[in-house]
Amino acid sequence: MILMNDFRRQWEETAPDFRRALDRAGASGWYILGREVERFERNLAAAWGLPHAAGVASGLDALEIGLRILGLRPGGRVLVAPVSAFATALAVLRAGGVPVFAPCAPNGLADLEACAHILGQDSSIRFFLPVHLYGHCLDLEKLGSIAARGVHIVEDCAQSILARFRGRPCGSAGRLAATSFYPTKNLGAMGDGGALLTADPSLDARARCWRDYGQQGKYNHVVAGLNSRLDELQAAFLADAGLPRLESWTARRRSIARSYIEGIRHPQIEIPPPPPGSESVWHLFPVLVPDGAKESFRKHMAGCGVQTAEHYPLPMFDQPALREARFEIAGDPEPARLFCRREVSLPIHPYLHDQEVDAVIRACNSWPGIGQR
Ligand SMILES: *Cc1c(COP(=O)(O)O)cnc(C)c1O
Repeated sequence: MILMNDFRRQWEETAPDFRRALDRAGASGWYILGREVERFERNLAAAWGLPHAAGVASGLDALEIGLRILGLRPGGRVLVAPVSAFATALAVLRAGGVPVFAPCAPNGLADLEACAHILGQDSSIRFFLPVHLYGHCLDLEKLGSIAARGVHIVEDCAQSILARFRGRPCGSAGRLAATSFYPTKNLGAMGDGGALLTADPSLDARARCWRDYGQQGKYNHVVAGLNSRLDELQAAFLADAGLPRLESWTARRRSIARSYIEGIRHPQIEIPPPPPGSESVWHLFPVLVPDGAKESFRKHMAGCGVQTAEHYPLPMFDQPALREARFEIAGDPEPARLFCRREVSLPIHPYLHDQEVDAVIRACNSWPGIGQR
């Protein structure tokens, strides 16, 4: 079976680095917020191209802390992308906000023209949580002009680490970039982790305060913060085993994406285009099949030995957890629903072999399709 993620292959190559990191972190005798986290934060900020990085316990926490330190208060409305990992909406709820789900563009990302229009019409929405979905980078110039009008933006970069827009790093248009080190992400830990990145030293200081019980100095609690610290061990793993490989892993993802874009030729399989100007890092490789054809396509792929996945089966506003919550949908919900009904993700991890990439392409192209062609 050709897997969506192949952690065994990854371990075969990275195990010596993990072991060395474990030895060093263990022997240090210091396990929370120490030298390993500091070192990883410095290396991550340098690789990303933003001055400050603060490690936290997860991507969800990074988003929640980001919204809180930008000043979101209970009942504050937050414009949010409609299609994403549910953590994106959850972060808004956990920070006490009311999600306002944005219109969906044909490629599944938030429609930034529509977002700018909504934010221009309704000045009571002061926060925006765009998602650089699938490893694409949204148009940072459009995001920047929204930020310039005083809208507080936390960019969800959980899937887009190292992605750029015309040379500029994702996460640099708003004031904060939030990311995740969940194992399947482009830079994965062996457990949970996340980070907030910023060019603003005062936001960096606030993130560090929030992640550690709201402390400013020992036993001086200035806000009712969280316990959301990145472990020394995960930081050591990320610094030794992950970060040094991230460029070559990203190059491999890009080369697989190019092969898929060139090789997949099927009248019923569409590849949703990245935003123009995006230097994507291809966390996922989504394709669109006709409405009603998803099951047929996924069954065919499985029969050819190719695992597939859905990102995501539902827009966040249709998740049962939201039945209890206050939320709004800005505009027509149907395009997001249709996108989710049609989307299927193909394997694109850096440990795929060339023959497997070819096998995925052949499997796609040999799908009979549905109905009349
Ligand atoms: C994974 C992910 C998150 C949440 O990250 P966790 O570390 O799992 O909490 C948030 N947003 C997006 C887009 C993600 O892909």
